[in-house]
Amino acid sequence: MTDSDRPNILVTNDDGIHAEGLFALKTSLDRVGNVHVVAPDRPRSASSHSITLHKPLRVSKVRLPDGSHGYSTNGTPSDCISLGVMDVVDGKVGLVVSGINWGPNLGWDLTYSGTVSAAMEAAILGIPAFAVSVASYEEDISFDVTAGFAAYLAAMLLEHPLPPDTLINVNVPNQPADCINGVEITRQGRRRYFGKLDKRIDPMGRAYYWLGGDVQTEELEEGTDVKAIACDRISVTPVHLDLTGHVAFEELRKWGIEEFQPAGSPQTGR
Ligand code: MN
Repeated sequence: MTDSDRPNILVTNDDGIHAEGLFALKTSLDRVGNVHVVAPDRPRSASSHSITLHKPLRVSKVRLPDGSHGYSTNGTPSDCISLGVMDVVDGKVGLVVSGINWGPNLGWDLTYSGTVSAAMEAAILGIPAFAVSVASYEEDISFDVTAGFAAYLAAMLLEHPLPPDTLINVNVPNQPADCINGVEITRQGRRRYFGKLDKRIDPMGRAYYWLGGDVQTEELEEGTDVKAIACDRISVTPVHLDLTGHVAFEELRKWGIEEFQPAGSPQTGR
């Protein structure tokens, strides 16, 4: 297969262009297609699905550890997808992979995650995409198992199209290969942070705050991403862009909300 026959794979992350996980992912995906790296120039974790509208975006060529080059930008992970698809990659992008994130993206983390949002942006553009994270904040992380699974899934996604408006969110336990208890297709679980606000007093006597907190560990539901990771299984969650609360839909109708009659006020001219 010549280079021009190989699919273009756009790789980004939210930990920044210099993150070890990004390069591990790039190296692994080199076996699957032509990899193009477009990533934020600094850590952008928990940037969610934000995009940059009020300042110019810049793109700089960056040398990667293997001597190849990628591109860094002052934008967010979502911006990286727009820049990659619409300008940096010459030709069609066949797949977007975001990661390998340092730290889990489980349960309600998905709404904060820049890693997952980059894959969402790709899904909005109709490009197959997945986000991949190693589910640990330890300093001592091996990306080998995660990178290997990412290449396996990438090849699979290039063969099998996803349904519309769908992406995949992958979390891999930070364990050696022989301690991984298989792969589980999961649903998004619940993951709450307790004690999220740490209020302190500065030397001038004024309050300041740190957001953060401890993750709830009890009551893990079977079949969820959080449970799979707790059991050292690789978690694969299909995620849909439709955030509609279908269960509440009929309930809201019953309340009679739709019977509202708009009444303008002559004074305000409405
Ligand atoms: Mn991150």
